[in-house]
Amino acid sequence: MKRHFFIFLLCLFCSSSFCAVAAELVVDPEIAWQGKIITIRLVSIEAEQVSGQFLNQEFYCYRSGDDYYGVVGVPVNQKTGYYDLDLIVTRKDGQTQAITRTLKVWATKFPFSKFWLPPARSKLRAKEIVEDEWAQIEKLLLVEDKTKNWDGRFLMPAQKRISQGFGHRQIINGKRNGNHRGVDIAVLSGTEIMAPNGGKVVFVKKLKAFGGTIVLDHGQGIHTLYFHLSKFMAEVGDEIKKGETIALSGNSGVSSGAHLHWGMSVHNLRVDPMQWVRNEI
Ligand SMILES: [Zn+2]
Repeated sequence: MKRHFFIFLLCLFCSSSFCAVAAELVVDPEIAWQGKIITIRLVSIEAEQVSGQFLNQEFYCYRSGDDYYGVVGVPVNQKTGYYDLDLIVTRKDGQTQAITRTLKVWATKFPFSKFWLPPARSKLRAKEIVEDEWAQIEKLLLVEDKTKNWDGRFLMPAQKRISQGFGHRQIINGKRNGNHRGVDIAVLSGTEIMAPNGGKVVFVKKLKAFGGTIVLDHGQGIHTLYFHLSKFMAEVGDEIKKGETIALSGNSGVSSGAHLHWGMSVHNLRVDPMQWVRNEI
């Protein structure tokens, strides 16, 4: 009986019949909230590569001391329920081990945010403009530099109040406009914007819809985005340290007043940057 129970426990962790040792998998938090991330740690594991899949996203875990560590996001509009997190561990001898954990995806409460845009600003939201600009940015968000360039918690890019949080259900000029995919920080035009963590500048451009835009690559599939800027103080290719000024804020593009839109992308999925400010990821 005891032996059967042990085998059952082993199979909970490991769905491969070749598996000799069950790896300890730590998922934090244990509930996957809409618009947030979960971290995945395989403790003290010898491996050549660890790849994962969750909610139709594919990602890698990276070596972190004796462990393998990865981050994956939950889409803001993900249907609540139970979903499998699948990991494939490739051993140094080429053998693979599959590990599955079923996780609960739960609802985050997103309030409504109503605001008005004058016609000259509103017309910049035209589908062809937004799609073209987003395509330019998105191909960079898909780049996964294996080096981790961030360290510890993220700083706020400006020390001011949040005027619209992540995931807010926007109503623009009286019509539903989906969820807000970043955090708006209420800063006067010309305020210095800091890099919240170390990274490389991969995009600097004046765009119509997003206004003055910078994208930082923090490595391992993690990027941050800065919209509506008035002046750039960094160039593509610059290696930026945590706290360094990268730009001045502004009111360019689709904006109802001076502010910074700060976005966070995890394997090309927008998630709440504040989770990275509050916790060490
Ligand atoms: Zn925004």
